[in-house]
Amino acid sequence: MYGRGEKAMFSNKEIFKETFLEKLEMLCGKSFKESTVRDQYHTLGHMVREFISATWIATNEHNRSTHAKQVYYLSIEFLLGRMLGNNLLNLGIREICEEGLLDLGISLQEVEESESDAGLGNGGLGRLAACFLDSLASLNLPGHGYGIRYKHGLFDQKIVEGYQVELPEQWLRHGNVWELRRHDQAIEVGFWGEVETIHLNGRLDFRTVSEEKITAVPYDIPVVGYKTDTINTLRLWNAEPSPYPTDKNVMEYKRETEAVSELLYPDDTHDEGKILRLKQQYFLVSASLQNIIQQHRAHHGHVKDLHKKVAIHINDTHPVLAIPELMRILLDKEKMSWEEAWHITIETISYTNHTTLSEALEKWPVRIFKPLLPRIYMIVEEINERFCKQLWKRYPGEWDRIKQMAIIADDLVKMAHLAIVGSHSINGVAKIHTNILKEREMNHFYKFYPSKFNNKTNGITHRRWLLKANPQLASLLNEAIGDKWVQSPAKLTELLSYREDAVFQHQIAQVKKARKDILAKHIYEQTGINVDTNSIFDVQVKRLHAYKRQLLNVLHIMYLYNRLKEDSSFTIYPHTFIFGAKASPGYYYAKKIIKLINSLADKVNHDKQTNDRLKVIFLENYRVSLAEDIFPAADVSEQISTASKEASGTGNMKFMMNGAVTVGTLDGANIEIKEEVGNEHIFIFGLTSEEVLNYHHNGGYRSMDYYHHDARVHRVVDQLVNGYYPVAQDEFEPIYDSLTVQNDEYFVLKDLASYIDVHERVNNMYQDTHTWLRMSITNIAQSGHFTSDRTILQYAHDIWKIKHSEMIR
Ligand SMILES: *Cc1c(COP(=O)(O)O)cnc(C)c1O
Repeated sequence: MYGRGEKAMFSNKEIFKETFLEKLEMLCGKSFKESTVRDQYHTLGHMVREFISATWIATNEHNRSTHAKQVYYLSIEFLLGRMLGNNLLNLGIREICEEGLLDLGISLQEVEESESDAGLGNGGLGRLAACFLDSLASLNLPGHGYGIRYKHGLFDQKIVEGYQVELPEQWLRHGNVWELRRHDQAIEVGFWGEVETIHLNGRLDFRTVSEEKITAVPYDIPVVGYKTDTINTLRLWNAEPSPYPTDKNVMEYKRETEAVSELLYPDDTHDEGKILRLKQQYFLVSASLQNIIQQHRAHHGHVKDLHKKVAIHINDTHPVLAIPELMRILLDKEKMSWEEAWHITIETISYTNHTTLSEALEKWPVRIFKPLLPRIYMIVEEINERFCKQLWKRYPGEWDRIKQMAIIADDLVKMAHLAIVGSHSINGVAKIHTNILKEREMNHFYKFYPSKFNNKTNGITHRRWLLKANPQLASLLNEAIGDKWVQSPAKLTELLSYREDAVFQHQIAQVKKARKDILAKHIYEQTGINVDTNSIFDVQVKRLHAYKRQLLNVLHIMYLYNRLKEDSSFTIYPHTFIFGAKASPGYYYAKKIIKLINSLADKVNHDKQTNDRLKVIFLENYRVSLAEDIFPAADVSEQISTASKEASGTGNMKFMMNGAVTVGTLDGANIEIKEEVGNEHIFIFGLTSEEVLNYHHNGGYRSMDYYHHDARVHRVVDQLVNGYYPVAQDEFEPIYDSLTVQNDEYFVLKDLASYIDVHERVNNMYQDTHTWLRMSITNIAQSGHFTSDRTILQYAHDIWKIKHSEMIR
């Protein structure tokens, strides 16, 4: 497919250089000598776009002509990171570019690093969506993403005097070479207004009048598969003023409209913000559904078989309005009966649940929902009524159960309930998470719809997280077992026969050292601190959240530091503890933890007495591109959430794939990592999820018992408030209170002793180099199970019923 005619620009180095110089002048309007790194990035990006355009068109035409079933993945987040490097790698043209640019005195790496991260997401959920797109295209599966083209992605984080400061992110500042605006396919989305009822030929019809319209303009981003001829599409909607008249003041209307695709997760502490979030959700869903149905109609002439040709997946509950929106289109536009429309809707839609934390389950007040989306609200009411009637038949007289399961109750619309009732598949994201859904959180629903529930353990694309992020490790693996693992990651198990091999072990150690040197350089540039690259790099990077327990990590470091200061017989192997985490702007407690980490770092890093043993580093602005430098450099992966709280985790998988050993609780996918590597290649500690859930259920935990009876615990907890840190007296009081008077909701004090113990084992084991490297290699070898290729094949086979396309020609 590639390499015909003028597309031959990547076929050899000389042609590449020639084309590059020619295009640079044309695109940037300056000579090569005057060009900046960004000009060079822009030029190379354009060349790649041109190179793939014919294949992109061919993929779309192929999909149309074969009538193959398509899957559409709807997600409020896509955490893509940078795209150039990944595209070059997947297209197999990275080497040509690297060599050609080098001849011109340009470093490809620098060019790649000038790209802004596309940070259209918070964390795990958004990164999962990005990994899934990579796997869909790499497996030749017809699957596309739908999202929102936020003008500002997740905020940029600065640390100022130890505190998080948020700056607006500006990824589109220099334009975006990867996107294609398609104004010809713009779609109108309506809000507000009133529903009119019309009796027509014995049929009750509904029409919404005096709506306020917003135009959704698609921007398409190509999703390039690894060495395949498939280029799928990520379609991001931009909100723009519509040409239809409105009663509003024109400037007010423009401002309100553009706000819809301005920001990821606007502040929703007030009604205005809540309305905006709900607007975003419906905007995404309505534009996508109208678009999908238009396309389907154009190719098939009718929508009676929609569910046989289209699968729509909703990533968490944010896009759950896809259910009533599909009903609206089928009822009001296609004039179907309720029964027919409902059958098609259920068969088309599937849903992934990402959390059991009750505060994270979306519930919308009726007073906000109903006026903003009057027709959609009517449909949700009707779905609810019919569902409750079914419940009544099955559970006559059980008012409590029916109220608990209802979609609308206490003037709230429960989005997870709507998702379960209106879809044919509900999956959790790790075995334990799915079991908790089935047996506890969604038990009533599981009993009512047992066959809808299933598990799909998350995965990550090993192409970005190993091949691209860690080329040093990738080439060592290629030398040892060949490069088949890139397309069939299960083949990584062939490494198992090398784990006792002294030469291979030595090479693995060298790669790790090289990656630690790279990260150390970055740390020095950001913080001015020199870290010892022979020390253990012990890393916790993820969003900051109480349940993820960065606090447990901090208290353990405080304990180590106390011991080192006071007990001259106590010694440890040198450790560098590395943190990276953004806190939600309105999450007061999480921000206190960031300040605490930085206060601890300040104290420890400036203490000459312990300096050669202990350092603490907080890396600001944790994001995909920074993560690509962190995972390869880690020796120890901290996955220490309170058991039962982390649905899966995917950071744990990225660490494992890069040879870090997990210190973790029996939570989320840690459990499956343990199953893959075996007990002796992972460090497990702490309460089990059974124990945690039983405490929740029966009570009986008293954090003060641990405070009073363990001197180590007592000491570090007191140090939060007794003037030990040079901060305002009450700075860390909220943390102190959470552990004491609020009875330590996340069992930090309960687990601290076993966490200290497990770290003693880590400390000893690391010094047994042979054993440690064996552990590290085992982790890499068994990481194949956690490729998103495996996950996506399971979704494709079990839920979406889609097949991979034959070679596109
Ligand atoms: C993988 C990833 C996450 C998710 O990490 P968890 O440890 O699973 O919470 C969050 N943010 C970024 C940038 C990631 O790459």
